[in-house]
Amino acid sequence: MTKTTAYKNSRLRMEDVELASVAEKFGTPLYCYSAGQIEQNFDAYRRALKSVTDDFTICYATKANSNIAVLSLLQKRGAGADIVSGGELRRALAAGISPRKIVYSGVGKSDEEITFAIKTGIMQINVESEPELEAISRIAKKLKKTVDVSIRINPNVDAKTHAKITTGKKENKFGIDIEFAPALYKRALKLPNINAVGVAVHIGSQLTSLAPYKRAYARVADLVRILRKQGNNITRVDLGGGIGITYRNETPIDLYLYALMVRDVILPLGVHIVVEPGRSIVGDAGVLLSRVVSVKKGHNKNFLILDAAMNDLMRPALYGAYHAVLPLNKGGKPTLYDIVGPVCETGDTLHIDEKLPQLKAGDLVAIMTAGAYGAVMSSNYNTRPLAGEAIVQGKKFGLARKPQTVDDLVKNDVIPGWLA
Ligand SMILES: *Cc1c(COP(=O)(O)O)cnc(C)c1O
Repeated sequence: MTKTTAYKNSRLRMEDVELASVAEKFGTPLYCYSAGQIEQNFDAYRRALKSVTDDFTICYATKANSNIAVLSLLQKRGAGADIVSGGELRRALAAGISPRKIVYSGVGKSDEEITFAIKTGIMQINVESEPELEAISRIAKKLKKTVDVSIRINPNVDAKTHAKITTGKKENKFGIDIEFAPALYKRALKLPNINAVGVAVHIGSQLTSLAPYKRAYARVADLVRILRKQGNNITRVDLGGGIGITYRNETPIDLYLYALMVRDVILPLGVHIVVEPGRSIVGDAGVLLSRVVSVKKGHNKNFLILDAAMNDLMRPALYGAYHAVLPLNKGGKPTLYDIVGPVCETGDTLHIDEKLPQLKAGDLVAIMTAGAYGAVMSSNYNTRPLAGEAIVQGKKFGLARKPQTVDDLVKNDVIPGWLA
C-alpha cells in the first residue's frame, strides 16, 4: 500500500496538496485527513475478507474518528458503523450510514440511548450484561419492536497490547465471562421482543499479533456450538476490531492472514461475519499540523514548544504513545529536541531527545499517524479551543470541522444568581 503523506521536493504533501498550504489557510493546530488513504485502508479490508467470504459487514468503529466527512466517505464505500453512544448514532445517521449496518457496542447504554437505537431500527445491539439484556427486552416490548442482539463475551485472552487498551481479559470491565454466557443465552430465549442471534467479541486495540485473535475466535466458535445445542439460533459472529498500525516500527498484521484465520476458525459455523476496525482505517490517514511557538534552551536541552498540546492529542500523555514529528519543510542540521506543548503539565510532552532537522519559531510540523483517537479525544483543558479538522482528496482540500473559538467555550459558563 502506498502512503499518501510523503515528501516531494523536500515539502511534506498529503496526496497532491502541500500540507503547509492547509495549515496557512485554516490555522494551527489543525487535524488533516487523507480521503485517499482512508479509502485505501477500507478497500484493503474489504478485499482481504472477500478473498474468503461474501457474507460480511465492515462496521467502522466510529469512536476512532467520528468526523461526519470521514463517515460519509466510508459510507460511500459501503461501510457500516460500530457505535458506542447515542451521539455516535446521530453522527452515523447524519453521514447516511444505513441503520441496517449499524451495531451498537458499549458497557453503559442508557435507556434513552437504547430507545433511540431501537426506534432507528439498527442491525443489532451488542449486550454487555444481564441487566442490559433485560432493559433492551423491556424497552423493545414497550415500543412493540423486536431487536436482534449479540452478547459480547469476554474470552479471557491476553491481547498483548497496552494495558489501557486491552479489553478481553477476565479482570476487564468488558463483556460477559464466557463461562456465564450459555446461561445468559438461555435467559434470552425466554425474554420477549429480543432475538439473541449473535456472539460478539473485541479483545483490545493496537494488536500486532494474530495469535490472541485466533485463541479468542476459537473460544467463540466453541461457544456457538454449545449455544446451538441448547437451542439458540446463532447466525452472526461479530469479531470486533483492534488490528494495529505502524506508529514507529511495529509490523501490522497481514489482513489476508487474518482473513485466512477467520476462514479456518469461524466460517465453518456458516455465520454472517461482522468486523469493527477503527484505528486501522483512519490512523495513518491523519496528521496534526502544528506551528513552533518557540525554541527554548534548557539545561543541556532544547525544548521545541509547539502550539499543539496534550488537549489536542492525548495519546502520548495517556498511553505513552509514540507519534513521529516531521517538519513540513525538510532540511536543516539534525538537532536533539524535547518536543512539548504549551499546556501546564509535565505530561504534555511528545518526545524526549528526538532528532529533528533544526527548527525555529514559526516553522510548521506534522505530528504523524494522528487520524485515530486524536481529534475525538481532545479536550478544552487550559481553555484551549478544539482544533479544526481538514480533509484532502487529490488536489482539493477543505474544512471538515471548524476550529472552536474561545467564545464558544466562555459563553456556556454561568454564574448562578445566588452566587452573583
Ligand atoms: C474501540 C472498539 C473497536 C475498534 O478498535 P480499533 O482498535 O480502533 O480497531 C471495535 N469494537 C469495539 C467494541 C470497540 O470498543
